Amino acid sequence: MTHLVWFRSDLRSRDNPALWHACQDPDNSVMGVVFTTRQQWQQHGLGERKMQLLENAMLALRAELKQINIPLLIIPADTFADCNRTLQRIIIQLNIRSVAFNIEYEVNERRRDIEFSRWCREQQVTVCKFHDQCIVPPGEVRTKQDLPFKVFTPFKRAWIQQAENHISPPLPKPRQRNPDIQDALAGLASLQGNIPATAALADPLWPAHEDEAHKRLNDFAAERGRAYKELRDLPARDATSRLSVYLSLGLISPRQCLHTALSHNKGRLTGNNPGFDTWISELIWREFYRHLLVAFPQLCKHKAFKPDTEQVPWRHSESDFKAWCEGRTGYPIVDAAQKQLLAEGWMHNRLRMISAMFLTKHLLIDWRKGEAFFNQWLLDADLASNNGGWQWSASTGADGVPYFRIFNPTTQSQRFDTDGEFIARYIPQLAGLPAAARHQPDSLQRKRCGYDAPIVEHTFARQRALDAFKLTLTAADAGENNDE
Ligand SMILES: Cc1cc2nc3c(=O)[nH]c(=O)nc-3n(C[C@H](O)[C@H](O)[C@H](O)COP(=O)(O)OP(=O)(O)OC[C@H]3O[C@@H](n4cnc5c(N)ncnc54)[C@H](O)[C@@H]3O)c2cc1C
Repeated sequence: MTHLVWFRSDLRSRDNPALWHACQDPDNSVMGVVFTTRQQWQQHGLGERKMQLLENAMLALRAELKQINIPLLIIPADTFADCNRTLQRIIIQLNIRSVAFNIEYEVNERRRDIEFSRWCREQQVTVCKFHDQCIVPPGEVRTKQDLPFKVFTPFKRAWIQQAENHISPPLPKPRQRNPDIQDALAGLASLQGNIPATAALADPLWPAHEDEAHKRLNDFAAERGRAYKELRDLPARDATSRLSVYLSLGLISPRQCLHTALSHNKGRLTGNNPGFDTWISELIWREFYRHLLVAFPQLCKHKAFKPDTEQVPWRHSESDFKAWCEGRTGYPIVDAAQKQLLAEGWMHNRLRMISAMFLTKHLLIDWRKGEAFFNQWLLDADLASNNGGWQWSASTGADGVPYFRIFNPTTQSQRFDTDGEFIARYIPQLAGLPAAARHQPDSLQRKRCGYDAPIVEHTFARQRALDAFKLTLTAADAGENNDE
């Protein structure tokens, strides 16, 4: 009997519950399938670099699975509906009786899976689904009133209690199997896409391979984990793990990350080393946003978490938006952040908050525009965390603090990039200025360096944002923290 494993955002051979399950019976054949859905990805707003990264990760997975004699078909399909049709054809042609996959939580993906599972039921094909993207499956962390949490801190407390039941060592890579399925696959060769496997397409900053993910995890844990709490907010320092890209592709699992962190933290989720405690807390933020997405599916449809904030009179200024996108706002820390995004496909977390808040508060531009831009350029683009981060920054999201949190980009810059090192790296024309001047050059310095004047004045912009939010919000907003 042949088992089919349908890979999606879990492009790894280790700690992959669907793959592991399919490999349990040594007498069964196992094959994998994964779809490159460029049209669908484009509809979801992904950029070319991310699409290439995804395809490279698929090729790496194919090589990894080949070592254990599991073939992986990489099949181009325009839409999710096409994926289902192609899978049905494969299942019928190879007389497959069992399909395994790890669950994706976004609305379109869930709809696709419901359709597929229904067809399988009719055909008496077994479907085995696994929770894989979160350590504690969405829906399992609830308030005393049996409701989903809307605020992080109480969610975290409850998550930690639940997590104790879910912590187990990550699954290993399955053992090598008999190479018995190759002949059967000959008839499916025409389905396979021709993805160019050239090194030229590999992203030098982000090698798309699970070994690279593990190297980063181990290096981080050994060299930077203990100082994480202290240094993580300083964008000039390489103090964070840069694993988000790997987590978003599924080249590494959150369980593998947690397991390594625990092994450096005396097995404790909290209350041991502040560096690892804090890093684990960030993994819980990731879980929080995924749990929210499942509990409040309107988040997948670009709706504000706080309905009142749909009334905010966002400004429509294409020129301001373009200046922000291109890093030409005249606020060095914001511009440097945007330049990092465009160059690296990644942005430091502190800068994501500063930049997102600048767009939504200083320029009063709708968070959805910024979210879409990040989604296009971030290689770790992920609906749950991106939406969560944007709505948090715009004060439209799941956050106990009301709308009057407005970062001053200049004081943020002075605090977190004190020597102006990060600014100088990404805006070289400011590197010649004394460090203290790089945060907010005067007009003469700007002229000399060929650097833009500020697009908007801070005090004015702050007041404009406060007025805009005040107009639309009810007092209920301030009393949001009612999860306890
Ligand atoms: C406006 C905005 C947009 C964002 N968009 C994304 C996105 O599309 N994809 C994404 O993975 N993260 C997003 N984040 C969260 C965070 O910025 C990144 O996860 C983090 O910067 C990744 O770097 P790292 O891997 O070095 O993180 P580390 O600091 O090493 O943290 C470890 C892991 O914890 C998770 N994590 C850390 N901080 C957060 C957070 N605030 N929210 C959720 N998860 C977190 C990530 O999976 C990360 O890889 C966004 C944050 C903001 C404010």
